[in-house]
Amino acid sequence: MSTQFLSDSFGRVMRDLRVSVTDRCNFRCVYCLPETDQAADFYRSKFDPLKNPAPIKLELPPLQPRSQLLTFEEIERVVRLAVELGVEKVRLTGGEPLLRRNIEVLVAKLAPLQGLKDLAMTSNGFLFQHKAQALRAAGLTRMSFSLDSLDPANFKKMTGRDGLEEVIHSIRLAKQLGMNPVKLNAVVIRGLNDHELVDLVRFAMNEGVQMRFIEFMPLDSNRGWLRDLVVSGREILERLSAHFDLEPSVVTQPSETARRWKVKGTESEIGIIAPVTEPFCGHCNRLRLTVDGKIRTCLFSLGEHDLKGLMRNGADDGTVQTRLRSIVWQKEDRHHIGEIEFKQPERSMSCIGG
Ligand code: SAM
Ligand code: SF4
Repeated sequence: MSTQFLSDSFGRVMRDLRVSVTDRCNFRCVYCLPETDQAADFYRSKFDPLKNPAPIKLELPPLQPRSQLLTFEEIERVVRLAVELGVEKVRLTGGEPLLRRNIEVLVAKLAPLQGLKDLAMTSNGFLFQHKAQALRAAGLTRMSFSLDSLDPANFKKMTGRDGLEEVIHSIRLAKQLGMNPVKLNAVVIRGLNDHELVDLVRFAMNEGVQMRFIEFMPLDSNRGWLRDLVVSGREILERLSAHFDLEPSVVTQPSETARRWKVKGTESEIGIIAPVTEPFCGHCNRLRLTVDGKIRTCLFSLGEHDLKGLMRNGADDGTVQTRLRSIVWQKEDRHHIGEIEFKQPERSMSCIGG
């Protein structure tokens, strides 16, 4: 077993690996994979036709052919090697991870890995009820669900699907199965769901789960992101503070993406993730493994590093770990959102693995 860590040239040590298990999704979220007429209308209404006369085209990104997907054995191998090099947290994501057939089999392979302290999944929750028992039995104890709206019509506008009931059922089921913590993620978009901030917090408090609000990032497949659509973390906090008595929670890890706030006198906590207006790159300890076996050292990386080819060419564990270390060494210092030179990555969030 190696004693070396995955350190970058800025002194950051990688502890957190996000694993995308599929680039397919059964939702069409307006901020990720927009496809519906409602989504197109929303973006059109926000663009200045004089500056941007071209109509918004909602084309879905190409999907990886199945032969290019990492197998469960390959994913397990990368995770094991990364854990040997100090990674402690793994999150299964996508696309929609519950669309990957037999995903519980992968969970069962990863959960017992020695040194892995935290295995979690992020899902839109639509299919969770069909897999919940199997995932729990396989050793999954932490779930995050996306929940952007509590209004069925707005939920459909935001996700492109009728599914609010199923998602609420999933949240309750995860709690009943003893999953802890259960977190809810809402991407906040001005003019779409920012009027629901307080209702979402009240809902989370009633359900005994943690609500987290995320700033809209330029990672949507139609490249329709506009700065004006971002509700800053600061504004979210101000708007919530008018309704709840909030106090900052103790920060246990500087690398935490969420700034957390406690609702005074309760056990409830709210997280605000503000990568656009308050970047946390200086403490970033995350890596991403794409569904086709590429390592991304930043959500906004313009380049990727192939591990699949290396593994399929018969590289031994030591060689893969050496490659991982050299990739991490090249991790970029920060993202450049808001700067002239910022370029949106080619792959959208659903293909990168959020
Ligand atoms: N399909 C699953 C889900 O929605 O939870 C997992 C994958 S999704 C890409 C992971 C997370 O990325 C979700 O919490 C989603 O809200 C977030 N996300 C997607 N696009 C985003 C964007 N443009 N800006 C900020 N967060 C985004
Ligand atoms: Fe699918 Fe998740 Fe992207 Fe929504 S955020 S389109 S559920 S991958």
